[in-house]
Amino acid sequence: MADRLSRHPWKVTSVGDEADSICPRCKEETIHRVVAMVEGKIHLVLCTRCNSQHRYRPSLAAMKKKTPLPSERQARVLKKLQKSKTLQGKGPLKDWQHFKEISPELKVSDYDPSEEYKENQAIAHPVFGLGFVRKVIDPSKVEVVFEGEVKILVMNRARSGQE
Ligand SMILES: [Zn+2]
Repeated sequence: MADRLSRHPWKVTSVGDEADSICPRCKEETIHRVVAMVEGKIHLVLCTRCNSQHRYRPSLAAMKKKTPLPSERQARVLKKLQKSKTLQGKGPLKDWQHFKEISPELKVSDYDPSEEYKENQAIAHPVFGLGFVRKVIDPSKVEVVFEGEVKILVMNRARSGQE
């Protein structure tokens, strides 16, 4: 085939040409003769060794390239993602449960960025729900544990809006 191509580089494969294909009967790559073309591609071939006619199967090398490695890897990554998602997203955080247990009588105040919060204080956030101050990071930031996530919230922000 390489010889033919080098002799006639302009020639496109057509019926009657030789083509390398996997032969299901010989169970290996053999030289075939093209019997039928479909949309410019080899469709049916005839094995020159055993004379069986079958659909064109690209060479072993081409078939090996088709190993489903990328999708397999993708599936693994997806599985990992789903796992971490269920760990984080499902149910309350351990810390949140802990806070809820130790402070059932705690007064819950609505979250207001201009207020000052202290550790262990309960906060009702309009978006994240009930949260507890786990740590005061600095005079303007607190780390708050909500049911599903941990957030850094602003506090002591000037009411005037001039920052
Ligand atoms: Zn054959």
